[in-house]
Amino acid sequence: MFDLPAQRAHLSEKYDLAPSPELAASMSDIYDRMSRVVSPVDWAIYAPYVKAINDLKAERNAVILGHNYMTPEIYHGISDFGGDSLQLAIKATEVEADVIVQCGVHFMAETSKILSPQKTVLMPDMEAGCSLAESITAEGIEEMRRRYPGAPVVSYVNTTAEVKAASDICCTSSNAAQIVAAQDSHTIIMTPDQYLAQNVARDVPHKNVVWWEGSCIVHEQYSPQDLRDFREWNPGTRLIAHPECPPDVVAEADFSGSTSGIIKYVTDEKPEKALLITECSMASNIADELPEVDFVGPCNMCPYMKKITLEKVLYALDTMTGQVEVDPEVADKARLSVQRMIDLSRQLGI
Ligand code: SF4
Repeated sequence: MFDLPAQRAHLSEKYDLAPSPELAASMSDIYDRMSRVVSPVDWAIYAPYVKAINDLKAERNAVILGHNYMTPEIYHGISDFGGDSLQLAIKATEVEADVIVQCGVHFMAETSKILSPQKTVLMPDMEAGCSLAESITAEGIEEMRRRYPGAPVVSYVNTTAEVKAASDICCTSSNAAQIVAAQDSHTIIMTPDQYLAQNVARDVPHKNVVWWEGSCIVHEQYSPQDLRDFREWNPGTRLIAHPECPPDVVAEADFSGSTSGIIKYVTDEKPEKALLITECSMASNIADELPEVDFVGPCNMCPYMKKITLEKVLYALDTMTGQVEVDPEVADKARLSVQRMIDLSRQLGI
């Protein structure tokens, strides 16, 4: 369990973390990446943490991987690489660093550890979970195999190492349809996201896609009526939905794509106004790179992702606590599922 007062006391003994407009001004190159969404007052609060973390990174030979759903001061202030969970895990294998700090949720840190077992992987808050990853266990996979004998199991990367190990192959939201289409079986089991599976089933009608009933608490909250109401209230806005949203929400949107697909779409299309029907920080993190796009409308926050803060990252790196371990036997099997996906994606040219 997290002992925040004790952590704060520890940090204040070693670092000067008082808000500092002077320090903030001296780090304007970093602030420029988030100035559209972070106020100068807030930046003066963040700057001492950002400096302390970036100095410590060099000392520890560490890199920080920041998921798209991190807040801007983490995504732009301290992350060496940003992206979706798989992009980050692949990046973890490519860097020379001894230490990876995963700014994201626990299954992402596990995936980094699976792909880079020799590196130390730190999670700033071990309680940063995921409703999708927690919805299924290895027993759930076995239950699906009993229900649909012989059908291959395609599991989303948003799963624990044990679930990946029990699956045949993994997928991401950007390659799910192609991975399913390429399976040598009419019936395919998809876990754990029922909505991603239903969206894939629509795109791959020649397959019988069956699914586990998990869902993401961020994306399942949207309804088609929300989108219709928004169009009426703010005409001309491009509505862009993540495929973890229910299919009737995706059907109301102008475009649906993975986090990297959404970024590519907005970057290529540059709509005057865009509503990203996904986690709140997505829009914040690309706002400064796309000044011509007005990101409007409501968004939903992931309470798990928001457990990661600058303070917790600094504490983890300072004390080297929060090390993620995966049983080597489980890791070997899980790596196989991830590697099959990477190999198949390359073979399919995606
Ligand atoms: S946004 Fe959804 S899928 Fe992503 S970590 Fe949060 S609960 Fe899990």
